[in-house]
Amino acid sequence: MNVDSLLQFDRNHLWHPYTSTTHPLPVYPVTSAAGVRIRLHTGQELIDGMSSWWCAVHGYGHPVLVEAIREQSERMAHVMFGGLTHDPAVDLARLLIELTPDPLDKVFLCDSGSVSVEVALKMALQYQQAVGRPQRHRLATVHGGYHGDTFHAMSVCDPVTGMHTLFEGALPRQLFAPRPQCRFDAAWNKNDLTAMAQLLARHHHEIAAVIIEPIVQGAGGMWFYHPEYLRGLRQLCDQYEILLIFDEIATGFGRTGVFFAAEHAGISPDIMCVGKAITGGTMTLAATMATTEVATAISEAAPGVFMHGPTFMGNALACRVACASTQLLLTTPWQERVLAIERQLKDELTPAIELPTVADVRVLGAIGVIETHKPVNMALLQRFFVDQGVWVRPFGRLLYLMPSYIIDPDDLSKLTSTLVQAAAMTV
Ligand SMILES: *Cc1c(COP(=O)(O)O)cnc(C)c1O
Repeated sequence: MNVDSLLQFDRNHLWHPYTSTTHPLPVYPVTSAAGVRIRLHTGQELIDGMSSWWCAVHGYGHPVLVEAIREQSERMAHVMFGGLTHDPAVDLARLLIELTPDPLDKVFLCDSGSVSVEVALKMALQYQQAVGRPQRHRLATVHGGYHGDTFHAMSVCDPVTGMHTLFEGALPRQLFAPRPQCRFDAAWNKNDLTAMAQLLARHHHEIAAVIIEPIVQGAGGMWFYHPEYLRGLRQLCDQYEILLIFDEIATGFGRTGVFFAAEHAGISPDIMCVGKAITGGTMTLAATMATTEVATAISEAAPGVFMHGPTFMGNALACRVACASTQLLLTTPWQERVLAIERQLKDELTPAIELPTVADVRVLGAIGVIETHKPVNMALLQRFFVDQGVWVRPFGRLLYLMPSYIIDPDDLSKLTSTLVQAAAMTV
């Protein structure tokens, strides 16, 4: 198809994420992607600063992942998971159990991050029913979170930047504490946990679980908070017999400098969601992990089963490429690479704090954020980035980078210098 008719058809018929069909922002046709380069139909190549929303940790078209998909697709792309099982699912579960905190040893495979959050929340509700606390059907969380776009996931997203007002009436009303204030690398201030402690003290009899993104709040504001918050939260949840759910969909697979962000705090949740980078950015897949205690309680009470089972559960193709991607990570010096990216991001983004347009600069692992005072002009900046030969997609007052771990220092410098220039333009 020629590019004009492609764009015209796209404009007339395709919805893009969070986009109008009548006034869509421009989209750029891509013909291929390799390594850290996205190739546009014009032949122009863009250095990718987004890893396609946290996913493509090895860059695009990695031969090991391509081969895993080819080989598995010839053998068996998919069979139903009801009554059947296979190596790819078992191998992946084995890997996940090994890599996640110890008590998590039951794996529910799902099709996307939002679904894994729904599954986690259903598990928490079914667990509380099973142990004789059916009145515990609400959830608690913090402001500034993002957990996905399906209904219960939406209900625990930030009430302001999320979509609560739009779906008021249809959306369950959950309980919110303020966003953790204490920065990741600041001295811990124990008052940071006071509001959450009060919320749980007041409402514990109706709360099934607390759900939170450990250390890094992603799409809800790219905010990095102190590990001590999570240790305190773990204690509070134990005290009130509330389950703790970690949403590691964005933070998992090395992004923050440790394999899972829970490791920064040295604690384990009762339920954990993983997704995004799990297949190295090739296919949709996620998983909900639970402790034996949670799984056993659910299974020993009526109706004796966990009530969920998507059509594409345990998709063999996705599981196989997830195994390949995870093993590839483990055989590469991923941590050194992420920490080298962190050092370079700190060196090259921190000077932007001097700009009058900039409110804050923060870096953790392979995540670099410049927060501006005013919201960015998306359409204008998108054009600017493409003209500069980079792919960066800001939102709100946030200009950020989360490159794939294989990026070299020169490409990363191009990304950081362009990001700083863009920050200076947000007036
Ligand atoms: C992206 C994301 C989700 C939703 O995952 P999808 O695969 O987009 O449904 C949930 N939680 C967090 C923390 C995320 O970053």
